[in-house]
Amino acid sequence: FTAIHRSFAEQARLRPGKVLFEQPDGRCLTYRETEETVRRVAARLVADGVTPGDRVAMQVEKSPEAVALYLATLRVGGVFLPLNTAYTDTETAYFIGDARPRVLVRSPERAAGGDLGALDGMVVETLGVSGEGTLLDGDDRHEAVFDASPDDPAAILYTSGTTGRSKGAVLSHGNLASNCSALLDSWQFTADDKLIHALPIFHIHGLFVAANMTLAAGASMYFLPKFDADAIVGLLPRATVLMGVPTFYTRLLQHHGLTAEACASMRLFVSGSAPLLAADHQAFEARTGHAILERYGMTETGMNTSNPYEGGPRKPGTVGTPLPGTEIRVVDEKTGEALPDGEVGSIEVRGPNVFTGYWQMPEKTASEFRTDGFFITGDLGRIDEDGYLCIVGRGKDLVISGGYNIYPKEVEELLDAHPDVLESAVIGVPHPDFGETVVAVVVPAPGARPQADELLAFIAGDLARFKHPRAVRVVEALPRNVMGKVQKAELRRRYAELFI
Ligand code: ATP
Ligand code: MG
Repeated sequence: FTAIHRSFAEQARLRPGKVLFEQPDGRCLTYRETEETVRRVAARLVADGVTPGDRVAMQVEKSPEAVALYLATLRVGGVFLPLNTAYTDTETAYFIGDARPRVLVRSPERAAGGDLGALDGMVVETLGVSGEGTLLDGDDRHEAVFDASPDDPAAILYTSGTTGRSKGAVLSHGNLASNCSALLDSWQFTADDKLIHALPIFHIHGLFVAANMTLAAGASMYFLPKFDADAIVGLLPRATVLMGVPTFYTRLLQHHGLTAEACASMRLFVSGSAPLLAADHQAFEARTGHAILERYGMTETGMNTSNPYEGGPRKPGTVGTPLPGTEIRVVDEKTGEALPDGEVGSIEVRGPNVFTGYWQMPEKTASEFRTDGFFITGDLGRIDEDGYLCIVGRGKDLVISGGYNIYPKEVEELLDAHPDVLESAVIGVPHPDFGETVVAVVVPAPGARPQADELLAFIAGDLARFKHPRAVRVVEALPRNVMGKVQKAELRRRYAELFI
């Protein structure tokens, strides 16, 4: 076991002059320079009173120094807590009050902030996008490296809040290191890779998949502040890997510069955090010759499954097989009994990647684990004939109408196949007779005007009557968060009173 901050320190020793970060303005940071910044930030954190186990919260725009802050926190034994920069002060106060950090690092513009209900004596440091601010204005260096054991907490990451209030998942050094090494092996990621990093770093995907892999492998990354199709298309000829959420691919497909030729040096495109549309998977392969590799993970577990890098097909609509060391099973939600392949049930996972528990929520933690150590993900899925996992949706999005279960994805896939439909979201809304009934929310294909009766006629032959949508609503776009997740709770609120 080697903790992530040690793997990084080792890479900095091996390849000090190698560029780790390259930014769009041309600013580059080598491994040595980054290591130097890590030591300076670590000294500041220690001066601020951070001791092992203390939380260090960060709410700043993406920058190499923000990644150095993450590494510095681990180096001094602190627990890293990144927060979405979009949160208002009121929202931020919930996380600060919950996690009680010793230090909060904020953008200079927001340092004053409102009343965050912080711990007495919480120190507020500032860090701007170009490394300016109080965090880096000292001259001290902290040389010692915290000797983490696998069970020591490394980070608290809050879940995306798609199904309710965000929960703080406590991830250990062992969780991060084991998942990182499973991914490096599975995707054959090495020091030769040049990753296009356009994801936020307050979320598991950008931080513990993309950044950790780069740091631990001794690779380089093109570090973009956010998704930018022009910038990405411009970088493709110099890069080897892109990790993105499905909306990255939807938008790249709209860019005329996305061609097989532009992708000549690329070896891997990864998608996750939300379901990738099968149509996008196919269109991307037709255009570039690359089959996007879809994988499945979550804040609480890191990555669980992946389509194969080699040795098998990357199947659209599936998330592949378990990563080495991780076990997946599909069970009957109520009884916990394993289900035969092909049947839809609750997805459960066990392995060194699975978190230790929710921050200060012992009852919630206990209720989400089975006695044999499997974590109940809250997602529904089935294992297909090749042993690949297919995610059917979230347990909380299941529609129960007149006592019958309806998996929204089944209806969405049929709607999406209609030429007038770009994408769709199927939800359940309250209904006086059936308890709930099905509503389809569709986004038109460019230039199209989908008609409700025509869509219903199109899908009717493939669906039992109780699964038929009772209303169709056409919208310009589905509500999504920054990770590209459709906000179904928001849609349910919007259409709650259609039938009552
Ligand atoms: P909350 O737990 O607060 O409701 P969240 O589950 O959206 O929010 P995350 O941990 O960011 O928070 O997301 C994990 C979830 O994302 C998974 O449980 C799954 O539902 C979804 N997900 C991730 N990857 C995929 C994928 N490839 N296909 C489909 N769904 C995915
Ligand atoms: Mg979740």
